[in-house]
Amino acid sequence: MRRFPEPIQNLVSAFMRLPGVGPKTALRYVFALLKMSKYDVTQMARLMQELSERIAVCRECFSYTEGRNICEYCSDPKRDPRLLCVVETSRDISTIENTDAFAGKYFVLGGTLNPMEGMTPDVLNVHPLLQKISASPALEEIILGFSPDVHGEMTMLYLTKQLRPLERKITRLARGLPTGASIEFADEVTLGDALRGRRET
Ligand SMILES: [Zn+2]
Repeated sequence: MRRFPEPIQNLVSAFMRLPGVGPKTALRYVFALLKMSKYDVTQMARLMQELSERIAVCRECFSYTEGRNICEYCSDPKRDPRLLCVVETSRDISTIENTDAFAGKYFVLGGTLNPMEGMTPDVLNVHPLLQKISASPALEEIILGFSPDVHGEMTMLYLTKQLRPLERKITRLARGLPTGASIEFADEVTLGDALRGRRET
């Protein structure tokens, strides 16, 4: 890439830290920002700053929450404490909420197992999950809400082994989600059916 002035180079490098953004896309974003008004650019920078200031991680379930220690799901007495759905990211919670097929609690694992990329059990919230389950006597069923792709399957297999001694029912989403499909892109009806038709591992 041709040498650009330092502020451009710096922002290109910053954008390249985002998933799926290579040097060309990063440069396109920077040039788009250069075309925007000073007001809009300042506004965007402010929103990014606000994100890190106002969004926290729930200390119960590790989902993102605004300005408090405990998220809206963990603090809601109407959510069924007998059910816990373990998901990869906070994003999956909103996807599942949109199906209206689940009214239990959530737990965010923080990723899926992928040892080649450094995603080992100790980087994920596996230990806090085991602790949470042990400390929740009302909990009866743990639903492994992962996408049926290679890493999702690997994670579900691993978690099943780890959770087995805790003697709770362990289920996973029904087949119906195509193999390799991501929960993120499943439509609400398919994902709702997969949740309702969940089966024991
Ligand atoms: Zn929470």
